[in-house]
Amino acid sequence: MKRIFLGCFFSLLLLGCGAGKSVLTADKTPMFTTLDLVHIEDDKVQVSMNPGAFTTEEVFFYIPKTVPGTYSEDNYGKYIEDFKALDYEGNELNFEKLDDNTWKVESGKNLDKVTYRVNDTYDTESETSEKVFSPSGTNILKNENFVLNLHGFVGYFKGLKEVPYEITVNYPEGLKATTSLKSKIVEETEVGKDVFLASRYFEVIDSPIQYTKPNTETFQINDITVTLSVYSPNGVYTAASLKERMEKMMSAQKAFLGDIDGTKEYNILLYLSTMEADDAQGFGALEHHTSTVVVLPEAMPQDRLEQAMVDVVSHEFFHIVTPLNVHSEEVQYFDFNDPKMSQHLWMYEGTTEYFANLFQIQQGLIDEAEFYERIMDKVNNAKAYDDEMSFTVMSENILEEPYEENYANVYEKGALINMVLDIELRRLSNGEKGVRWLMKELSKKYGNNTPFKDDELIDEIVAMTYPEIRSFFDTHVIGDTPIDYNEYLGKMGLSTEIVEKQTGFFLDGENPFIDVDQENEDQIYIRKGLELNSFFKTLGVKGGDVIKSINGTTIDLNSIRNVIGQSFTWSPETEIEMVVRRGGEDVTLKGLAGTPMLEVETIVPVASVSNKESELRQRWLKG
Ligand SMILES: [Zn+2]
Repeated sequence: MKRIFLGCFFSLLLLGCGAGKSVLTADKTPMFTTLDLVHIEDDKVQVSMNPGAFTTEEVFFYIPKTVPGTYSEDNYGKYIEDFKALDYEGNELNFEKLDDNTWKVESGKNLDKVTYRVNDTYDTESETSEKVFSPSGTNILKNENFVLNLHGFVGYFKGLKEVPYEITVNYPEGLKATTSLKSKIVEETEVGKDVFLASRYFEVIDSPIQYTKPNTETFQINDITVTLSVYSPNGVYTAASLKERMEKMMSAQKAFLGDIDGTKEYNILLYLSTMEADDAQGFGALEHHTSTVVVLPEAMPQDRLEQAMVDVVSHEFFHIVTPLNVHSEEVQYFDFNDPKMSQHLWMYEGTTEYFANLFQIQQGLIDEAEFYERIMDKVNNAKAYDDEMSFTVMSENILEEPYEENYANVYEKGALINMVLDIELRRLSNGEKGVRWLMKELSKKYGNNTPFKDDELIDEIVAMTYPEIRSFFDTHVIGDTPIDYNEYLGKMGLSTEIVEKQTGFFLDGENPFIDVDQENEDQIYIRKGLELNSFFKTLGVKGGDVIKSINGTTIDLNSIRNVIGQSFTWSPETEIEMVVRRGGEDVTLKGLAGTPMLEVETIVPVASVSNKESELRQRWLKG
């Protein structure tokens, strides 16, 4: 999974910016499932699930509480309505709803099938505080678009997770499915009907489907067939317009991975959101073995959308290595309704995110300076989380506080842990080995269907590598001692220094110095805990100040957009008068606009670098 945070302010800128009776027992019969995407009522999809005959009295039916890769409890059962348990004559049987995601049917021997209606998650994201992350959510937009993350639509019966599924989808004319599920050949007369097959429940939820008006492109990366399916509500983007950059990026990934065994098919399901209140609000992606669902704002300009796709899709594609090919028993035997979490998020998410940056420099998509900038961003972003929290303890307990609120650090410190591990492995092996080598060895040893024991992985890595690696893990990954990144960068002939760079008056690239008050949208305030640029510092502006006016213009959400626009025409001599509210009082601040500069820490090569360090650095960055 990868979540992209667009600051609230940035978001606002963009915006104004059935089978018959069965004689076989349930555990031998396929799970016949139907989804009716044609007759949508109240924005809901009718689902029917027909197992074989049960031999037990009590039957339990579940919709997942959690799915792999999300690391959160989302209770997909909350979106299920009108649940019915029916006998072979079509009479309703008694049932009990035990919790959000569990239904118990008393007379199981008489149970023919269950039916229910499913509401989608995208509509409700802005109304609820417990929102499902959009790439793992669902969309029902009659005759237009269906995002079928199947864990939201299809459940399982206790003891029947391993039976094959046959899923029939009736879809409206003009739409087309993209999915990694295998299709059963249906008779030509049956227009508007797809029948998909899955070997077990895991495969069902591992294979999302997107139905859209045809907007797909297919290309070949060595032996992998990649299909990109795009839903762009206002027709801004086509799959063809995004294909070239995706093709280049994925070729580079394949070159980076070398002979690490992957998939033969990969589907990118891109959903572009209008960002209106009834549309998806969670941007990023979720990984699967042979596909990924990506959600981004349609209003993003093409170069930014493409860069976001490069960063997000490359991350998801690298999940093929871990956890998809290298994972513990907790992941292999994932319990959708009572999940046990593994200790190794430093690897599942950290290694993945590190690779998503490393491959770009190794394959020449970015230069050294940009790679260092990305690393420095991670060092800075990690400061927002608890640096003295054991990463393995956090990972095992990620569904609970205080660990849950530190989750996003897996993309920051998690990636940095891998950078340090990479530096150590390169140094100890005279440049020969790194994290990519390690992951290749682990994926050879394990692979798709062979899990490792959760508490043996680190011993195993140490046994495969060097004793020094043990102390690194003990101190900084299992232990809670913060990492001194400078110490490790020094081993590669790098150090950090403070430099000045020019910024905008109100934004540093995409990072605004200001934000909008969540409670009162007309209050624009200066963000706290942020290094301000020289423009604000010279004026005497402080974090937390609310901007009342600038050069006589009263500031609210609308007018700040105009002022930001005007600021591009300001010269260093432009006189600025800003009124801010601070501690209940209005304060008038005056000064010249100047040239806004910001002090930032950057990674630079040291002048006195030794040959050995410089060579190690080349091996690290150029592979
Ligand atoms: Zn991820």
